[in-house]
Amino acid sequence: MAQTILITGANRGIGLALARQAHARGDSVIATARRPGEAEALNALTRRSGDITVVGADVTSPEQLAGIAAAEKRPIDLVVCNAGQYHARGALDDPAYTAEAWSGTLMTNVAGVFFTVRAFLPNLLAASAGRVAVISSIMGSSARAKGNAYIYRASKAAATNLACNLAAELAPQGIAVGAYHPGWVRTDMGGAAADVAAEDSAKGLLARFDALGLQSTGTVEDFEGNPIPF
Ligand code: NDP
Repeated sequence: MAQTILITGANRGIGLALARQAHARGDSVIATARRPGEAEALNALTRRSGDITVVGADVTSPEQLAGIAAAEKRPIDLVVCNAGQYHARGALDDPAYTAEAWSGTLMTNVAGVFFTVRAFLPNLLAASAGRVAVISSIMGSSARAKGNAYIYRASKAAATNLACNLAAELAPQGIAVGAYHPGWVRTDMGGAAADVAAEDSAKGLLARFDALGLQSTGTVEDFEGNPIPF
């Protein structure tokens, strides 16, 4: 059944593939981008038939997100918190792990999820069965700890934890929340050597989001439905 989906960071990578596929299957899509004027691939979708709106949002700005939510009167069936940043892969002594890098990455990958869900909660509550999908990463799994990429790993561990806590708080209000590992995906972030195409990841993710409900809230799984230890 066609639904209304909001996707953050939809101008490239996995977010763009999700927006393309949701739009192609007839969903109404609200796609956010930090610089919507430069989001050429996304804006091209608005020239095709179907319902897609492109809005400007930096997920580190609760004010911007709240403004969009207030202007957007429609119920939203699914909010996909996809926007994210990678950071350096180095060992503990890597000078790239600055205070600024810690706060910037955690702000986007963790607080950005929190601000997004809080801003769009009224729209989710107005839907008959609102759902939230947090794009996390297996790199945040403490059970699969490997060292390196400290900031990114910590940010994704926190994003998964946030999804589980949101699931606990929002279940009594009828909203289901899941955290998802999209695979190692060929995007600007994943790089050319990654083994999953963005379109394949998005296809799998959309199927997992369709399967998300109160019976499975708090799930932490990959784009193929395999559980991710955390
Ligand atoms: P990309 O780097 O290709 O795209 C990242 C997207 O997030 C861009 O649209 C970017 O916007 C947006 N973004 C970054 N920071 C912000 C911000 N502060 N506010 C709003 N938007 C922002 O990454 P992927 O598509 O590969 O990744 C998407 C998600 O999947 C991320 O959360 C990532 O951590 C996760 N993931 C990816 C994996 C992979 O192998 N690719 C593996 C595991 C998880 P802009 O263009 O303006 O920079």
